[in-house]
Amino acid sequence: MNTPHIITIPRRTLLVLCGPAGSGKSTFAAQCFSATTIVSSDYCRAMICDDENNQKVNHDAFELFHLIIQKRLSLGRFTVADSTALQPDARRKLRDLSRRFGYFGCLLIFNIPPEICLERNKSRHRLVEEQVIPYHTGLLQRAILDTPHEGWEQIHILGEQDMDIIVEIEDIQGLQRTPAFLPPS
Ligand code: GDP
Ligand code: MG
Repeated sequence: MNTPHIITIPRRTLLVLCGPAGSGKSTFAAQCFSATTIVSSDYCRAMICDDENNQKVNHDAFELFHLIIQKRLSLGRFTVADSTALQPDARRKLRDLSRRFGYFGCLLIFNIPPEICLERNKSRHRLVEEQVIPYHTGLLQRAILDTPHEGWEQIHILGEQDMDIIVEIEDIQGLQRTPAFLPPS
């Protein structure tokens, strides 16, 4: 099955981006969604210590990341979680938040080859240490296998050619929740 060009989700959705550093998550989010709907773990690090890359502040940064998401969900706002979400525990926390607030959980997995992530990482202003990318790629392969069993309402696996997909927000009340796992094309 091919990845659809249009993904339709209800407004009460927590859209979780998942993928290696350099896979294009933040670029995709910036193209598709208004800035205030995107909650970024990198930006949470920056807000705390002025350095998006400083892994030492992860504990506080993720506390802030989850708190902002929780506040948005409690107000019924459509929200995009921009972090790698490659660790099962990271996804579980986001899935639990979406469930707690009666939200639809939609996972977008950026299945981008490591060579491309490395190349894109080199070309950007904020370099992530190169050895992180092969590690992320291993976690990505694991995530592709594990996520169908994690209870997401929708999972879409995006390849390099899918960065032009359109995400449509459906405003009809009482939309049926349909499991829609779309395997890689
Ligand atoms: P993230 O770490 O997954 O959030 O990745 P970013 O969105 O920060 O993208 C990493 C780098 O790759 C940036 O310099 C982007 O400009 C570039 N990039 C992102 N998406 C694409 C794409 O679809 N095509 C190309 N050529 N570059 C991209
Ligand atoms: Mg990013």
